[in-house]
Amino acid sequence: MIRNIPEPILNLLYEIGEVAGKNAYLVGGFVRDLLLKQPSLDIDIVVEGDAIRVAKAMCDRWNGTLEVHPQFGTATVTHGNIDLPKVDFVTARRETYQGAGTLPIVQSGKITDDLRRRDFSINALAMRLDPNAFGTIVDKTGGLADLEAGIIRVLHKQSFIDDPTRIFRASRYAGRYGFRIAETDVVLIQETLPILPQLSGERIRNEIDRVLLEKNAAKIVEHLAELGVWETIFTDWHISATFADDFKKAEQAITWASAHLEDEAFQPDRVRWMTLFGTHTPIYQIEAISFRLVLEHQLQRLISRTQAMKRGVSLEEVTVPVFEKLGFPLSKNTSIKQHNGMWCIVDPDNMKTYVCGDGNLYRVQTPLTAYKQLEQTVTTLKETVKPSEIYQLLKPYPIEALVLGSVDARVPEWKREKIADYLFTLRKTQPFITGDDLIALGEKPGKTFETVLWELFAAQLDGKTATKSEAFRHLRGFKDHAPAK
Ligand code: ATP
Repeated sequence: MIRNIPEPILNLLYEIGEVAGKNAYLVGGFVRDLLLKQPSLDIDIVVEGDAIRVAKAMCDRWNGTLEVHPQFGTATVTHGNIDLPKVDFVTARRETYQGAGTLPIVQSGKITDDLRRRDFSINALAMRLDPNAFGTIVDKTGGLADLEAGIIRVLHKQSFIDDPTRIFRASRYAGRYGFRIAETDVVLIQETLPILPQLSGERIRNEIDRVLLEKNAAKIVEHLAELGVWETIFTDWHISATFADDFKKAEQAITWASAHLEDEAFQPDRVRWMTLFGTHTPIYQIEAISFRLVLEHQLQRLISRTQAMKRGVSLEEVTVPVFEKLGFPLSKNTSIKQHNGMWCIVDPDNMKTYVCGDGNLYRVQTPLTAYKQLEQTVTTLKETVKPSEIYQLLKPYPIEALVLGSVDARVPEWKREKIADYLFTLRKTQPFITGDDLIALGEKPGKTFETVLWELFAAQLDGKTATKSEAFRHLRGFKDHAPAK
């Protein structure tokens, strides 16, 4: 097995063993991936005793730099040779959970305690680094056998309850390595689902982010759907039957966009989330999920505390009659739940999501609904649409939605070409005549000024003017035909 470790890393590990002796162990993903003959770069060392002391000694030896987190008993050493990976040193610890979904109480412990706090047997393997037994695997929980058999298995029955994020992790490893989750664990997952909603939005979002970065993300997302995870996070959240295909196209679109668009602002993770919601998820649901998972969103105020008080209602008391009085009638299927310290009011019948807190009433706004909205805009396109009209229609959309639209096989090819034309050409077109030019000609900024500027730019986009002087001629044409003042 040691033979699979690249030599420069092997040397680092030998040196750690020389310095720390029997107290230091290589752990976690690196050991797992080493045994699976897969590359891994995260070097995690567990030290029985004082990890920071060992990290400091290694830092001196490697002429490196040290980042210490005394409150966690951890330190990261960056080697003086920047071609070598960073090494994380962690003090061996014991964890006790007080309640479902909460973070554990941590105390220092032995390597066996540290391995027993881990999620799955395949992640609870350690490799000895002391020169006498370098490379010997410490396996207290049957991890080697599970790796061999391709099984994801928790270390004890309470594991998913202690930390429901492990549901995502189990599915992620199963999808990544083509493993299966032990049958007993599938039952434990089912039993844990009811408490999954107790997890904070950030923790759920982090796990989904990590899933979406996997090569086999589609398979994992579908597996989580089979387990019933999505609808547990949010009622009625479903994954489209075409998700695997959609995601493949999205990944192609990301590669394509990264190669062809020089936009600094292009965010691949936004494309992945948009694909996860697809075009089948209603806008109000995307908004509610974005709020719940603390995904990129903003709150736009609909009614202020003062306005509510003027109408004689209190928003602290979030009830149907209160909303009725404010002019927002709610249907009987409305759900009112508390998240992130505010009330989230989801009215599926009226397709509306509100958020209420600090005495104000808000609407959730998120760019993640843009792909769904684009679908509606694209439906109305006529083949005769002019470039200037395309420009106006597509300008409000974030680039990620347009990139997705341009590769969506359900959109007719000619429409996709129009979107691509906007992405590559129209969007980047610089107007021949600017506001400064008009001011230099004695025009005063105002409504007419704006209209003239747009008309000139539209003529340019539609190919009616090809140079600045043609644009000026066009401008004179306007003036000649302008009604006398
Ligand atoms: P990846 O290749 O996805 O990065 P990894 O195994 O390195 O996999 P990390 O999330 O970096 O995963 O975690 C490092 C190690 O910490 C894991 O191998 C596992 O032993 C432990 N660990 C991480 N998250 C949990 C958790 N929620 N519960 C228990 N142990 C965990």
